Amino acid sequence: MSYEAFRDEELGFTTRQLHAGYDPSEHNRSKAVPIYQTAAFELGDYDRCVRLFDYSEEGHSYVRFSNPTNTVLERRIASLEGGTAAVSFASGMAAISGTLFNICQQGDEVVAVKTLYGGSTSLLEGVLPDYGITCRWVEDEDDPASFEAAITDRTRAVYIECLGNPGMNIVDIRAVADIAHAHGVPLIIDNTFATPYLLRPFETGADIVCYSATKYLAGHGTVIAGLVVENGGFNWLNGKFPAFERFHGEMADSIGEEVLAREMFTKRLRMRSLTDFGGHMSPMTAFFLLQGLETLSLRMDRHVSNAQRVAEFLEAHPLVERVNYPGLASSRYHGLAQRYFPKGPGAILSVDIAGGKRAALELLEHLRVFDYMVNVGDAKSLAVHPASSTHFSQIEEERAAAGVFDNTLRLSVGIEDIKDLLGDLEQAFEHIR
Ligand SMILES: *Cc1c(COP(=O)(O)O)cnc(C)c1O
Repeated sequence: MSYEAFRDEELGFTTRQLHAGYDPSEHNRSKAVPIYQTAAFELGDYDRCVRLFDYSEEGHSYVRFSNPTNTVLERRIASLEGGTAAVSFASGMAAISGTLFNICQQGDEVVAVKTLYGGSTSLLEGVLPDYGITCRWVEDEDDPASFEAAITDRTRAVYIECLGNPGMNIVDIRAVADIAHAHGVPLIIDNTFATPYLLRPFETGADIVCYSATKYLAGHGTVIAGLVVENGGFNWLNGKFPAFERFHGEMADSIGEEVLAREMFTKRLRMRSLTDFGGHMSPMTAFFLLQGLETLSLRMDRHVSNAQRVAEFLEAHPLVERVNYPGLASSRYHGLAQRYFPKGPGAILSVDIAGGKRAALELLEHLRVFDYMVNVGDAKSLAVHPASSTHFSQIEEERAAAGVFDNTLRLSVGIEDIKDLLGDLEQAFEHIR
């Protein structure tokens, strides 16, 4: 039996993270998803070749566009996300740049928040303008009216993240989605810090979800990877997206109206972005990601409960000035966290240490269980001083706006035994005194 998404729908999240999108009978009954380590596939005969290349038959020809290992991964993430289709990329940045290039052309604008991941900010600020695509930054991301104010006739997308970096601020996703849709543009959300287990972007109005799968989706810190998932149902033929109108004209006969209505964004992403820019995920990476995804919900539950305990410990510590974690009642985002993140607002937090930069670095360098790394979303606990690393290239005011001060540390809380995490922080604090 071939894969049918509807067969997934009644299964729970944890069951789907193990099984969705894979039918062993299509793969010699191998129970593990096989790694198709090949550059290309035999086409069979002339008629089949023509059907593959006019897209009237789905199949694999060249691995820059598709590979059966990646197909299982794409179906699995689409199932977990509740979307219609997905495309796998070689990195999170390849997924994000592919998404923006799929939507925007010269003269277009993107409306985005200022607390984005550094790579996304520099793409929007330093690269896309050279291609005639400019960004309007939202003045106050806590105020939906500020999104409305940034949208113009030339806006083609609104771009946000599930949890701001490193202050863990939360945008009112539903309100912003409604504003974007009233202007006929899609809402794109980078859901890397939350994963589909903690946040359901499509149920709150988002149209496209991007991931750095390098982080929690993989979980083990062994691969660089990206994914893009589509909700389906956004009207790309509303007059604002001529490239999609052309694509629709070219493809409607072979792919069919019904599939295009559901998956136009990801179809074009594969046929244009992967095909012409490259950047597909390798099948080996897809395999590692499938291994990681099998335990996603279990890991995220543990990440969240550990992060809550670490946040509470830090907040009560006399050498701490401030903790930013929306799971704390003291957070101004606590209400939005309860609404959008019923299972907990992720496991990344920032903390301002009393005693300035010297004290913060003293703490950082004495941590033993937390590793000193710029990465986040690993099963292992990580810590970093953003002002001298992830936010180093920003000027002081930009850093301050993102909640990054000289005495700020960012923690990505892992799944270790909680007593060891709290004990590690405790012993490191003793070096400050
Ligand atoms: C890491 C990260 C990215 C970039 O992903 P890569 O896989 O490193 O290319 C994008 N967005 C967020 C939120 C990230 O944490």
